[in-house]
Amino acid sequence: MRLKDTEGIGMTSRRTRERMINRLIEQGIGSHKILGAIRNVPRHLFMDDAFASRAYEDTALPIGYGQTISQPYIVAKMTELLVDQRHLKNVLEIGTGCGYQTAVLAQLVDYVYTVERIYPLSKQAKDRLWGLDIRNVSYLHSDGGWGWQEKAPFDAILVAAAPPEIPEKLLEQLAVGGIMLIPIGKERGIQELQRVIRTESGYEIECLEPVSFVPFLSGKG
Ligand code: SAH
Repeated sequence: MRLKDTEGIGMTSRRTRERMINRLIEQGIGSHKILGAIRNVPRHLFMDDAFASRAYEDTALPIGYGQTISQPYIVAKMTELLVDQRHLKNVLEIGTGCGYQTAVLAQLVDYVYTVERIYPLSKQAKDRLWGLDIRNVSYLHSDGGWGWQEKAPFDAILVAAAPPEIPEKLLEQLAVGGIMLIPIGKERGIQELQRVIRTESGYEIECLEPVSFVPFLSGKG
């Protein structure tokens, strides 16, 4: 997929973006396919102008409504764990936020269904991705705890906010052989990233690494 050319200047230039890619390589992200998809996405266009000059730093930044855009490393790591060598037809993303992770995923899978509980974030993300010529995404303003029943089952599910335990509906909507990545924990700073694989007979759950996500909240915001 070729995204619209959106090169910035100074702290948002292609050179600054390349430094972020080099840092991701140092941090152990090895997949060229994933690095290529990240390189394509102008991260500075996913936040307010006030933060654009910091867009390529390895940090989470505010996107309004008390939410944050995920840190580049965690976006890269989760994408790598999810996509790897597999062909994914449909992916459910919970927590669209500013749409950055969505834009990276959309280049690597056939179709992304993304759910966000805060309407203005969902709307902004939709407009932004449309502006970048990304068309293989559907957006839903809803509580992601319900998943997206009409579009299930999903080859993969990526959750970008941390619930205390895995929502039942998400387990149900995962295809057999499908994989879900989800941060689990009560508070920021003491969560762990879990990988769930659905097998013919049940679910295999593995704890991967400590992470820090915003809380998974119920209901629409
Ligand atoms: N990948 C996004 C992460 C945004 S932060 C980005 O890089 O921008 C996580 C998002 O999850 C927030 O926008 C928050 O509003 C949303 N969220 C939290 N609980 C949710 C729920 N139950 N359903 C849908 N979205 C939820």
